[in-house]
Amino acid sequence: MTLRIRPDLDSLPAYVPGKAFPGALKLASNEVTEPPLPAVLEAITAAAAGVNRYPDNGAVALTEALAQKLGVTTAEIQTGDGSVTLCQNLITITSGPGDEVLFGWRSFETYPLATRVAGATPVQVPLTDDAVFDLDAMAAAVTDRTRLVFVCNPNNPTGTVVTTEALRAFLRRLPSDLIVALDEAYIEYVRPDAAHAVDALALRREFPNLVVLRTFSKAYGLAGLRVGYAVADPEVVAALSKVHVPFSVNSLAQAAAIAALGAQEQLLARTDAVAEERARVSAALRELGYPVSDSQANFVWLPLGEDAAAFAAAATESGLVLRPFAGEGVRVTITVPAENDAFLAFARAWKS
Ligand SMILES: *Cc1c(COP(=O)(O)O)cnc(C)c1O
Repeated sequence: MTLRIRPDLDSLPAYVPGKAFPGALKLASNEVTEPPLPAVLEAITAAAAGVNRYPDNGAVALTEALAQKLGVTTAEIQTGDGSVTLCQNLITITSGPGDEVLFGWRSFETYPLATRVAGATPVQVPLTDDAVFDLDAMAAAVTDRTRLVFVCNPNNPTGTVVTTEALRAFLRRLPSDLIVALDEAYIEYVRPDAAHAVDALALRREFPNLVVLRTFSKAYGLAGLRVGYAVADPEVVAALSKVHVPFSVNSLAQAAAIAALGAQEQLLARTDAVAEERARVSAALRELGYPVSDSQANFVWLPLGEDAAAFAAAATESGLVLRPFAGEGVRVTITVPAENDAFLAFARAWKS
């Protein structure tokens, strides 16, 4: 049967969920291994007793807690059910058919997909040879149809970061009315040297067209509850709030996010361990002869080219679920030492 569904959607791939199976070690989605802290679980349980009521559509308490933590006003914050939805909503408020959404590639798969769902045109600028966002080439690719730019920093799946100098030069070069979304889903894992210490909130005060996207899914360990936020100019927040799906940030997510902010120190302390493990795993992989990009996130990227799919398939056989990008590379989440060791054992065996 052919129903009246937009024919342009035929060219979009259907979502293929990450394969996981009983007993498998899942290193495919950049989640944390640890379950929620007791205080977070308590907040979720308490909120569960009230789910006969709709959630607070304005997420007032969460927005106030975020504003206080970040030193911004509540008018500069928009929450969403995951920052992936905020990416989508930024596209919705800026772009339609004939418009261009610009980003580096390879990067987060939501950018091209959500762009095409909006009927707009994705413009993908290749990363540099070091797998870093090529901001010069991106600035050169801006046209009068460009409506939105994504900079993923650290970049998913390569883990690489841009320098503050390159980012500031980029922002200076762009039209001041062009919205630039800085996707900082992995910011808590960055251990920058001086050149890479991007202070996004300070930059945002300098460039009102900059939007900072963050999430509770990664370092804060709430991937299953779906909550993220944008820090942006009040004009952008007002537009985002118009396309916000009512009640989409559920009450458990709001309560958990507030509790997670309260336990920030404890949660962020874990990222130190991940950063150490990332260095250890990267060094071990390089010693084994693997190419590994310089990651500042909770994953590493192995640009294995044609071997990517076979490498990930063999890993699955040995009980490890990785994230392959056929013909390009494999992304592997860095978690706790025992899990990382299981991956290293596989990587060692693959070489022999
Ligand atoms: C994981 C991730 C997000 C956030 O996802 P949500 O769970 O929707 O908050 C955003 N951007 C990138 C690049 C990511 O990898």
